[in-house]
Amino acid sequence: MRYLPAVALAAFALPLSAFAADPYSYAQPSVVRVTHLDLDLGVDFDQKALAGTATLKLDWKDPQAPELVLDTRDLKIAKVEALGAGGAVSPLKFTLAASDKELGEKLTIAAPKHPAEVRITYATVPTASGLQWLTPEQTADKKQALMFSQSESIHARSWVPLQDSPAIRFTYDAHITAPKGVRVLMSAINDAKHPLDGDFTFDQPHPIPSYLLAIAAGGLDVRETGPRSAVYAEPGVVAKAAHEFEDTEKLIAATEKLYGPYAWTRYDILVLPPSFPFGGMENPNMTFATPTVLVGDKSLVSLVSHELAHSWSGNLVTSASWRDIWLNEGFTTYVQGRITEAVYGKTQADEEALLSARALEKGLAKMPVNAQKLTPSPRAVGADDALTDVAYDKGSWFLHTLEQRFGRDNFDAYLKGYFAHFAFQSIDTETMLAYMKTNLLDKYPGKMSVAEVRAWVYEPGVPKDAPLPTVARFDNIDAERTAFLDGTLGADKLDAKTWNTQEWMYFLDRLPDAPPLTKMQELDTAWHLTGTPNAEIGMRWYAHAIAAGDKAVWNAAGEHMQRIGRLYLTTPVYRAFAATPDGLAFAEGIYAKAKPAYHPMTQKAVEGIFAKAKAHPGKAT
Ligand SMILES: [Zn+2]
Repeated sequence: MRYLPAVALAAFALPLSAFAADPYSYAQPSVVRVTHLDLDLGVDFDQKALAGTATLKLDWKDPQAPELVLDTRDLKIAKVEALGAGGAVSPLKFTLAASDKELGEKLTIAAPKHPAEVRITYATVPTASGLQWLTPEQTADKKQALMFSQSESIHARSWVPLQDSPAIRFTYDAHITAPKGVRVLMSAINDAKHPLDGDFTFDQPHPIPSYLLAIAAGGLDVRETGPRSAVYAEPGVVAKAAHEFEDTEKLIAATEKLYGPYAWTRYDILVLPPSFPFGGMENPNMTFATPTVLVGDKSLVSLVSHELAHSWSGNLVTSASWRDIWLNEGFTTYVQGRITEAVYGKTQADEEALLSARALEKGLAKMPVNAQKLTPSPRAVGADDALTDVAYDKGSWFLHTLEQRFGRDNFDAYLKGYFAHFAFQSIDTETMLAYMKTNLLDKYPGKMSVAEVRAWVYEPGVPKDAPLPTVARFDNIDAERTAFLDGTLGADKLDAKTWNTQEWMYFLDRLPDAPPLTKMQELDTAWHLTGTPNAEIGMRWYAHAIAAGDKAVWNAAGEHMQRIGRLYLTTPVYRAFAATPDGLAFAEGIYAKAKPAYHPMTQKAVEGIFAKAKAHPGKAT
């Protein structure tokens, strides 16, 4: 943890929690730090397991330390050894503590002689929370099994024993074996021309936090999209994906122009099957992405802008704990908007910013006070739950406010300097604020006070004077929605023929939570929303139609839920169903069929919705 100048400490009246160890990890970085990871693993599709060794290079900080403590979850540890300088190998005693539901099992390795390297021989279990194993039938092409990891927030420990805290960065290399014909990819430089001979090596020379450790293996094809970018996907998907993401080089160049050179050499994208639980994951060199953004018209390509932006905000400058995740996601959502503006124009960027600000306002009203803060109290929420709209959209709204107050040129220069200053470091909110005070607030006095910054960062809600972009097309949609609900404008008279995805999202988002049934039927007759292949529109349509009591959409909603495992696009539909006993029973039937293809995180989320609905029947979750 970095120490701060006293003046900054006084100005921001730091909460004590800022100096506590990461509450989501057993690691003791003040005692010993992992500096390099060397993986040697085999991918076994039959056993649904990774098995082999992890060798950790150690930097001992405390000369008295008797042990090395690591994070694990459900790992089968066979042995632990110390590696001596001359190749000498000696066994080390270790104990695995009883399992903690949130943190997993603490692995304590007795190492009073402070070996420079420790090697752990282990295997993962088929239900590892950070891995998903898909049978051939569960993939798009239905030909070859496929596996992938999702380490953020604290799931790297379910496939590698390590210090699983974003405060700790390490370099890694890996030797991975797999059946012949399988392509293995990792969050490192990948070679598009690598033969599919079952033997892969990887090198990540930049220090990364554990949540950026990633692997995927399966029947994957590749298409180059630029001099330093390629798209990987199943053979049946790769052409469509390469077309949707053909602007990748333009996006990289636009970001470099704003915030300095891309530090990671190559930027590739892997499109996974629809069970991938997130929109995208910014694994270094290899963004993992959902296929739900392949809608044919590039309208959802802001996902690539977002994941690419993380190459600066997040992967280059990382939040040191999950409490500070808004430093990754809020900054990234802001940068994403700037990339979108540079490549696709101001209207699209403004539409996206306004869409998420309005959705945030609606969401905040239902949130507990702690969850409304950019810096929620740690442990009041789980590490996975820290990734809320508040971190993304309130964070980015704050940055838009700074841009407006200090002027775009000054703020751009500031942000570029911030990324360069903290490159390849993990920092907390208070370190960022101390830097901001010196390099922004004090440099341009009178633009924004410390009290105003404090309100954004430490108070619930959004300050009343927070600026919003004006989007004329959205104003029209607001007017049309009102007229439609009043009955003065028929659904077929809506000017929706030219609406893009964002405009449909905006129209649907701001319908009443439970609109009148007749209105939903009228809308569907005019615009055939039921059965839409666009999952962003589908999720919003089904959630509202179900809440209105429109049983005619149930089967199509069920197909949407079975087709898509992305949390954000499927859980709102489950929640809508769970509000009534009939709906809940129907959703449980769908889940029974969908579950085998869902990621463990999606399973956990859906089962949580069911449990809550049963504990409070009739109450919306
Ligand atoms: Zn993100």
